[in-house]
This record gives sequence, C-alpha cells and structure tokens, in this order.
Amino acid sequence: MKTIIALFKKVFTTAAPFFLLFLLITSCGKEEAPSVKYGLVIHGGAGTIEKDKMPPEIEAQYEEKLNEALLAGYKILSDGGSSLDAVEKVINILEDSPLFNAGKGAVFAHNGINELDASIMDGNTHNAGAVARLTHIKNPISLARMVMEKSEHVFLIGDGAEQFAVQNGVELVDQNYFYTDSRWNALQRALKKEMESKSQTVLYPALSDEKYGTVGAVALDKNGNLAAGTSTGGMTNKKYGRAGDVPVIGAGTYANNNTCAVSCTGWGEYFIRLGVAKDISDLVDYKGMTLKDAADKVIYEKVEQLGGDGGLIAIDKNGNFAMPFNTAGMFRGYIFEDGRPIVKMYKD
Ligand code: ASP
Repeated sequence: MKTIIALFKKVFTTAAPFFLLFLLITSCGKEEAPSVKYGLVIHGGAGTIEKDKMPPEIEAQYEEKLNEALLAGYKILSDGGSSLDAVEKVINILEDSPLFNAGKGAVFAHNGINELDASIMDGNTHNAGAVARLTHIKNPISLARMVMEKSEHVFLIGDGAEQFAVQNGVELVDQNYFYTDSRWNALQRALKKEMESKSQTVLYPALSDEKYGTVGAVALDKNGNLAAGTSTGGMTNKKYGRAGDVPVIGAGTYANNNTCAVSCTGWGEYFIRLGVAKDISDLVDYKGMTLKDAADKVIYEKVEQLGGDGGLIAIDKNGNFAMPFNTAGMFRGYIFEDGRPIVKMYKD
C-alpha cells in the first residue's frame, strides 16, 4: 500500500507543474469568455485607425462614446432585458453621434445626399428587418426593427421604407440633420480624386486613408437569446442607389440562437459576395468550428484572399466572442456579466 501511495505522490509531483503549464498556455490569448449568461460586443467600424495618427482628444471621444454604449446595453441585459433591446439601444447611441458613419455622422453619396442602411436579426425567431437608402430617418436601426416586427416583409428600400415609417408614427428629419463638415469634405476629396483619375468611381474609404465607421452590436441575453444589428451610411461617393452588406441579412448581419450573432464592417461588396455573417454561422453549425476559428477563417482567409478588407464582431450562445479585422484597426468593445466595459481601437 505504502509503495502505491509513494508512487502516486511521485507521479503527482512530477506531473503537476506540466499540468499547470498546460492550463496556463491553453487559457492565454483567447478572446473567449468563460461560460457566461449574458454579454454584449460592439463595433464602430474598421479601417485606418492607428495610434500614431490618432489625436488624443479624438481618441478620448471615441472611447467615451463606446463606453457609454456598452454601459447602456449592459444595463438592459443585466436588468433581464432582451438582446434585441440591447442591440437597438446601443446602435441608437452610436447613430446619434457624429463620430460614426451611421445616423447623424453618415457619409455622403455621389449625389451629395446621405443614404442610410441598417438591419437587425433576432436569433431566437429568425425574424429579421432591413432598410436601405433612407434619407430622412434619424435612427435606421429602429426602423429596421419596426420592419421586422410590424410588417410582413423583411427588406424595405427608399421612399417605400419611409412611407412605412410615417405610417408607423416615425418622424422624418430634414437631410440637413445628417450634414457634418468632415463627411462633406470627404466627398469633395473623393470627387476630386475621381476627376483626376478619370476612371471609375472612387469609393472612399476603400481607396483612401479614411476609416469605415459603420456601427454594430451583437448580444446574448439572460434567456439565451442572441441578436445582431448593424447601421451605416455606406461608402462615401457611392452611386446609383448602391447598398452595401449592412442591410443584407447573412452578409453584414446574422443571428441564430443555435450558433452565433454577427455584425460586420468593411468593404461591403466583398462581404455580400462571401455572405460573411451567415458563413461564420454555417462554419460553427456544420463544421463544429469554434466561433473564433470560424470568424478568423472568414476574415483572414476568405475576405483577405478575395481582396476585401474590414472586420466583424461575433458572440455565440455560450458567450464566447471574436473581433477579427484585417485593417489597421477597428473601434470595438465588449462587456460581460462583471459589468466592466473594455474598449479597443488598434491592433493588440
Ligand atoms: N460595410 C459598409 C458598406 O459597405 C461600410 C462600412 O462598414 O463602413 O456599406
């Protein structure tokens, strides 16, 4: 008996350090939360966001707004509210800020008008609502939710979408509401560049140093329901009624309680062609990949190989999350049960 105990002790003392080391290594460098009951991940667009080019006062403004949004979403989730409510509220806050390319801060299309797109999806019911080419709606994400909940359709566009809004009591705002000097100047730079190059449309920021700035949120609530939403002004100098990935369910936005919720930002044409958000859900669903592996594969392999750029946020039914991007930076943040908001902008 004594020999068995001695042998056991020996094995234990020799193996323990290796076992501890193994635990340490496997728990490092993962953007995966331990099993949590609720959480929220947000983004404010991907692009050329670099520490050495970012004035500290602007950095502080982004940090403050992203923190405000995270805390507002957290309040809803911790009070037992739904992931849909959290996603809508968070996006409303970002839409109302001129810092982001959504709502108030939307970029200008070629015609000098702001044309806004948004979509939202409920992972529990698979219901979805999307709107595109809005020109007088202050909070497109709320109209997308209205389309989901109050119409028999999924996707409404332009004048028709605004008629539906009015019929449902939404107040229209004047186009002037969306005017900001910075977005107007970006359009003028794009037009100038286009004239000089005498070639195809110069779509900012795809060919420039400017960031994208779309906003999005994904959440898991206490009832295990996932939701995703995304809102944008699209791309500066877009033409011909162009809509990007944001209002396309399965491209820029997707949610399914059995897999994950995803919201994207980046060069929309690539995200549409790859069906990015649904692709991630499918990799988790059919291939049994972890959320992080699936999200990394789509951004760093598929989008990258096709020549696109951008990023995404995703959360799964267990509260694991991922925030990959192949641009210089991405405004992003997360908050889980402990109520501690974390905001990031640059590469780690
Ligand atoms: N994905 C958006 C679009 O192509 C742009 C962005 O993410 O900023 O319209």
